[in-house]
Amino acid sequence: MRKKIVAGNWKMNLNYAEGISLFSEIVNMVRDEKKGDQQAIICAPFIHLNSLAQLGGSTVSIGAQNCHQKESGAYTGEISAKMIKSVGCEYVIIGHSERRQYFAESDELLAEKTVITLQNDLIPIFCIGETLDERNNGSYFEVLKSQFQKGIFGLEGNDFSKIVIAYEPVWAIGTGLTATSEQAQEVHAFIRKEIDAKYGVEIAENTTILYGGSCNPKNAAELFAQKDIDGGLIGGASLKSRDFVDIVKTFN
Ligand code: 13P
Repeated sequence: MRKKIVAGNWKMNLNYAEGISLFSEIVNMVRDEKKGDQQAIICAPFIHLNSLAQLGGSTVSIGAQNCHQKESGAYTGEISAKMIKSVGCEYVIIGHSERRQYFAESDELLAEKTVITLQNDLIPIFCIGETLDERNNGSYFEVLKSQFQKGIFGLEGNDFSKIVIAYEPVWAIGTGLTATSEQAQEVHAFIRKEIDAKYGVEIAENTTILYGGSCNPKNAAELFAQKDIDGGLIGGASLKSRDFVDIVKTFN
């Protein structure tokens, strides 16, 4: 049985006190309301990680939003996977479209980041997604295939079986334009089929594939009811405790 996950991505929001306050609310609400065995995760800015990992305990897991591809060294301003692991994080978002777009992160770089993440016993949440042009001109399957082939299909099956994939259509991120459940399911089924062809049916069936892009308490239930959608990666709605926890509750 693959894991059901609702992961919040706070992006570059919340000062330290605000982060602690929001996270404390989320932990208390999740503790009261979570019934199934789904995993709630908050992916926070680096300054929050240490404290949140201590507060979250076994109720809410913590992830970073990025890491450097090297183990350590003279990379001023960067944070390594080993450092992230050392404060109690379990996950790292790799290849979010904002990193691909604003920081020119290539598929090859993201492959390196995925490897170092796994080497440090962290779980990558590997993001893929097409732009609006790519959706409209019908090239999106090719775009997505290229992103995951270059980014994660170099992994051995044993490593691949540990990762989480997030499909986040760029045109749906922060726009209020959600992919319909049919559009999202079509892509998720395609990703799972490609994993099956490369790694076999067992790994394909056990890979968690999240949807991200304007997911909210109103549309989560329909999205998560799709056969190949195993939860969500939530941006804006993860900044409001009630909304985030309502999305977590969708699985109950
Ligand atoms: P929104 O939920 O704000 O559209 O953001 C999605 C996202 O980018 C999560 O990583």
